[in-house]
Amino acid sequence: MFDRSVERIEATDEEIEAAVEAASVPALMMSMIQMSGETGLLEGAIRPRPPEMLDVQLGLTPEEQAVMRKEALQVIRAYRDAGCPPAPPPSSETIDRMLAFLAGEPRFPEALRGLVLEELDLEGSDPRRARIDPEAIRRAGSDFHVILIGAGMSGLLVAFRLKQEGVPFTILEKNPGVGGTWFENRYPGCRVDIASHAYSFSFDPGEWQHLFGVHGEVRDYFARIAREYGLLDHIVFGAEVERATFDEASGRWHVEYRHEGRAASASGNVLVSAVGQLNRPKIPEIPGRESFRGPQMHTACWDPGFDGRDRHVAVAGSGASAFQLVPELARSASRVTVFQRSPQWMLPNPDYHDAIPEAHEWCFHHLPGYARWYRVITIWGQLDKAEARVEIDPTWDDGGLSASAVNRALRDQLVGYMESQIQEPGLLEKVVPDYPPMGTRMLQDNGSWLATLQRPNVELVPTAIERVTETGVVAEDGQEIAVDAIVWATGFHADRFLWPLEVEGRDGALLSRAWSDLPRAYLGISIPGFPNLFCLYGPNTNVAHTANVILISELQASHVLSGIKRILEHDLATIECREETAREYESRLSEALERRVWSHPKVHGFYRNASGRVVVNMPWSAADYWQWTRELDPADYLETPREVETPVGPPRTRGGPEARRTD
Ligand SMILES: Cc1cc2nc3c(=O)[nH]c(=O)nc-3n(C[C@H](O)[C@H](O)[C@H](O)COP(=O)(O)OP(=O)(O)OC[C@H]3O[C@@H](n4cnc5c(N)ncnc54)[C@H](O)[C@@H]3O)c2cc1C
Repeated sequence: MFDRSVERIEATDEEIEAAVEAASVPALMMSMIQMSGETGLLEGAIRPRPPEMLDVQLGLTPEEQAVMRKEALQVIRAYRDAGCPPAPPPSSETIDRMLAFLAGEPRFPEALRGLVLEELDLEGSDPRRARIDPEAIRRAGSDFHVILIGAGMSGLLVAFRLKQEGVPFTILEKNPGVGGTWFENRYPGCRVDIASHAYSFSFDPGEWQHLFGVHGEVRDYFARIAREYGLLDHIVFGAEVERATFDEASGRWHVEYRHEGRAASASGNVLVSAVGQLNRPKIPEIPGRESFRGPQMHTACWDPGFDGRDRHVAVAGSGASAFQLVPELARSASRVTVFQRSPQWMLPNPDYHDAIPEAHEWCFHHLPGYARWYRVITIWGQLDKAEARVEIDPTWDDGGLSASAVNRALRDQLVGYMESQIQEPGLLEKVVPDYPPMGTRMLQDNGSWLATLQRPNVELVPTAIERVTETGVVAEDGQEIAVDAIVWATGFHADRFLWPLEVEGRDGALLSRAWSDLPRAYLGISIPGFPNLFCLYGPNTNVAHTANVILISELQASHVLSGIKRILEHDLATIECREETAREYESRLSEALERRVWSHPKVHGFYRNASGRVVVNMPWSAADYWQWTRELDPADYLETPREVETPVGPPRTRGGPEARRTD
């Protein structure tokens, strides 16, 4: 399924040589083992040294790479000349050895094994599939329905899993298209900061033009997923959900939404929120904003007709979106002034803007296992020892510049990287953060940010905008600057989960009230008092140090599907997270968060809510989260059997999701 290497090799020696030159050598080595069945490489002297940061060569020196490329040429030629015989996945014992080899360890870390094997899935068996007993689905009857809110990455993922099982569902989506973030964010320069081959579903690798996909190709990927897997027919577009109410008598969720300007409703046994964390653009309350006479827009609402030429553009913010936008904008705008409240850390990644050479693409299509090994290699640096980089050492004190010795070493490395690029006097002081690295999202950088800031038409003002006038902006340091347009690269209401939805659970409990101090959900997914409600990308599930959001969503989708499986196979009306389970989880979470760099006193930013608690990020490694989410433990949930339902209260809302006009 994932392994597209089924295509027979008909390439010439020269073409193979070009492909081998472009390949990731560690992935090539794994594929060589699959092609030849020979495992001698695993005992050889040329061995990966897993790096701290993204490096698909896993620390192999250019000389070592050259030796291996030469050997690969022989192996691939022999494989081609033998007619490309089937190259089945190695035995599980050999896979363990291969993983240990890549990890540079005598044994592959046990804690990571399960997760990595799932990601690898050399058999193409789709291990995250729920495998619900079809008889249970039949027994539940045609009335059984799942309502999903949101057709972004997470919503499509759950929809795919439900479709696989034949569980009826509907997605309500406010936009006219799928893809969420990638449907909305179209500002110049917008792209992923996780390698494309990892920022894709485990069941469908995608075809990528760039090592880090630009927004258009990511949007196309999700559009194809929706089309090819038959999800489009299940989506009601232009349907903004406003309210969801749990009806205790029927054990169903009643959902109210606006569709084409009119009120409509739907009902279902299970409600899945996939509304995203970064879906509600945030523009700070700045006096005078409405008085500005020129164009202004948030990065997530980019006007495709906007032409920066001959304009002086103010960009408010220097975070992830500004970091991508400004280098593009500065090419056409007559002048760009960036207002920076707080500088950002950046990770050197020379390949960040690179297209995937055709020769490398060839490897994904022709070399057995290459695509899957490459995927694992791209996430490897974010899985192993990830926590050490974000751990606060309480005994460490360097005036708050870093959080531990490991973190300090990273800081020094990153400051050195910045220094090496700066010629402009005074710039270094403005761009080096005074807080520890990893405290905010680490931005992938190929040098374009600092090069752009040193262009003659670009200025960095190291304060936020305090006021907007009819013709410009006034910075907090008092500078008044006339500008023609303003771009708000000011992020999202990331701390307001499921907002502005009104969700009413058992006994009329409102989620907005339950979460007014602190959004809390067991595993970020389930909430006591809200039966049969599951959240994707809920509180404390963003990842800033481990894996990527798609992988975490896949783990959450497994948990949700195992909940739905439980409901169906055990004839349950509802399942509901136990209060004590959620409380115990919350206390573990708080305790772990206190030890993470995002809680460091010098770190501020969107990971925290108004009270200062980190509500966005997950403190653990993806491997831990995998352990906890892979299967729903019935002991964590209260269960209500379908038979014991007492038919009291308002009449049961029947039927599936059909839009029902109520005005
Ligand atoms: C610019 C940007 C770049 C990112 N890059 C990366 C990256 O490189 N790596 C990474 O791991 N993560 C990244 N993320 C984070 C994350 O991967 C994405 O936000 C991802 O799209 C999350 O998917 P989602 O489906 O959970 O949410 P979203 O993509 O936000 O989708 C939510 C969907 O729900 C719909 N919706 C919301 N409310 C309602 C409602 N009331 N009624 C009906 N529909 C509703 C929205 O219209 C949207 O379609 C990025 C985020 C942003 C904003």
